[in-house]
Amino acid sequence: MAECIFCKIVARNVPATIVWEDERSIAFMDIGSVNPGHALVAAKPHVENIFELDQPLAAAVFQTTARIARALKQAFAPQGVTLYQANGSAAGQTVFHFHIHVVPRYEGDGMNLAWPIKTPPRSAIEEAAARIRAVL
Ligand code: AMP
Ligand code: ZN
Repeated sequence: MAECIFCKIVARNVPATIVWEDERSIAFMDIGSVNPGHALVAAKPHVENIFELDQPLAAAVFQTTARIARALKQAFAPQGVTLYQANGSAAGQTVFHFHIHVVPRYEGDGMNLAWPIKTPPRSAIEEAAARIRAVL
């Protein structure tokens, strides 16, 4: 995709600080880092979101994500690591080329995702599960 910023990073057409790549995935530093070490793991081919990932691509991207998380743990000794991944603007996606954020975390670092728990009745949970099973 000619206009996609992450495709340009994969193709080395724009500057990026790349820390890892293999045949199907690439990891580079997020220019809007929440904490030092905040990295992005992206699919190399232009796939917009999780719905376009085939199995080998999903496997490669998640293997790289685990590799980067282990590296961040060793390099920064954070108190935790958050994986964040958005699909669609309603979900918070701003770059429409599949990627996973790998963020070193510390108590009180200010990164917050509002999580409005609704504690539905068991019947509603069962009904939601049935809808999922019906299409798996
Ligand atoms: P998302 O909101 O999950 O789509 O995240 C997109 C992320 O890409 C943001 O955290 C941006 O800071 C980051 N980003 C955008 N452009 C670049 C770039 N050229 N190099 C590195 N990170 C980028
Ligand atoms: Zn792209």
